[in-house]
Amino acid sequence: RRWGISLPLGFAIGAIRHPDRPAVIDERGALSYAELSQRTTRLADALRDRVPPGTRIGLLARNHHGTVEVIVAVAKLGVDVVLLNVGLSSKQLADVLEQQDVSLLVADEEFTTHLPELPAEPDVVLAWVESTTERDTLDHLIATTPLRGIGKPKRHSRLIVLTSGTTGTPKGARRPDPPSLTPAASIFSRIPLRAGERVLIQAPLFHTWGVAGFQLSAVLGATLVLRRRFDPQDALRTVERHRVGAMWAVPVMLQRILDLPEEERTHRLESLRIVASSGSALPADLATRFQRAFGPVLYNLYGSTEVSWVSVAQPSDLRAAPSSAGRPPFGTAVRILDEDGHPVPRGRPGRIFAANNMIFDGYTNGAGRESRDGLMSTGDLGRFDRSGRLHVVGREDDMIISGGENVYPKEAEDVIAGLPEVGEAAVLGVDDQEMGQRLAAFVVLREKGSLDAEEIRARVRDEVGKFATPRDVVFLDELPRNPTGKVVPRELHPHLEG
Ligand code: ATP
Repeated sequence: RRWGISLPLGFAIGAIRHPDRPAVIDERGALSYAELSQRTTRLADALRDRVPPGTRIGLLARNHHGTVEVIVAVAKLGVDVVLLNVGLSSKQLADVLEQQDVSLLVADEEFTTHLPELPAEPDVVLAWVESTTERDTLDHLIATTPLRGIGKPKRHSRLIVLTSGTTGTPKGARRPDPPSLTPAASIFSRIPLRAGERVLIQAPLFHTWGVAGFQLSAVLGATLVLRRRFDPQDALRTVERHRVGAMWAVPVMLQRILDLPEEERTHRLESLRIVASSGSALPADLATRFQRAFGPVLYNLYGSTEVSWVSVAQPSDLRAAPSSAGRPPFGTAVRILDEDGHPVPRGRPGRIFAANNMIFDGYTNGAGRESRDGLMSTGDLGRFDRSGRLHVVGREDDMIISGGENVYPKEAEDVIAGLPEVGEAAVLGVDDQEMGQRLAAFVVLREKGSLDAEEIRARVRDEVGKFATPRDVVFLDELPRNPTGKVVPRELHPHLEG
């Protein structure tokens, strides 16, 4: 049922059709499609004997050419690769390496300091190296392995992407391979990427959003532009210097670009046609301000590791309805169901179910996700507006019942984040003796002292009513976020007790 272009095939076609076109550009220079093809064949050969059958390769790296090389090389070998979040603690890393049967770890040198704390130190190859080292590095392996045919892999390799693990050890989600061309083509109908253009992937490549951008680029014969760290000034400079056509980002990055003073935003950005945001909700106010500053270039993509893409808001959708997640692409079905699995009337919120042929193949621990009539639960709540645009109102497990009312924290969060005095805000449900549960807001003000808690509560009450108004308002200097830009609730709770 799934036919399409696998990553190695995508790059092999690129190496024949446009061998000299850069496939990857990073801080250390450019690699052409021809070079990438040869380097990944050598690397696959070099790694072959270091991954016993049934085990996997772990990749703990930032965005750079080595990351791309490993993903392509293991696909040529037919070995699974687990993409590891660089923000994992050493305890989480140890658990994940064990649960995922990782026998060989490819890691940037900067992340190797906590490896000795692991119970069993894995076989390690260094990816990005800052110092000169005698140790095993990707570049050394590639340079010392002769180029010879490696044959067809016995099986398809799979990408294992970790969920963010807000509530425990991250679960591994198996992405289908080869990535089918049908959903790729459908996403191109909502996000008009062009063949051969330059795509700057700022979202981490260990996250579905980043890796999806990379796969789409391979299908298009694009040039991937990678940066190891996100810096707002550097992002604009990179767009200008490399004439980037599309940028892949998470909302907090867009916020940081907007926060740059005007005089630091003088770059020539005519090449930039598409800024695609995903990974977490795009605040309405951010969408509006971004389009005002940079023109109609913003696309908001809603999806998840498990279900892949569900809907895309184009610049015109965001102009008409800045808080919307747009419309499902061709080939994706979306339904809003109630608790009993019946469709809810348009306009009413319910559980979002979706189907397309990019849905994941289950967690590596064998578990799946709830399905109804062939559609899979996204774990989110949402509604369709009258124009047929989807609005995500929050995650199912975020919804609280306060005094018997269903309350979605995101409603209050959107109101607070939209206040001109507020830089960013997060709202959570917490236990409450009297109401069962209540909301607590965590607010970062642009200027300290410009608003007090009661003023914030009054403005939220006007918009969304008493039940959805947070009782606690805590002011912070910044919100704790994981490397994909998501706020980490368990790091917010302690601020309440103080
Ligand atoms: P975990 O389950 O471990 O917490 P996660 O669900 O955070 O991991 P992802 O698959 O990256 O990991 O996140 C997908 C979720 O992020 C979606 O289900 C949704 O809640 C939210 N999300 C992503 N993009 C958008 C968007 N454009 N608008 C609203 N919500 C979004």
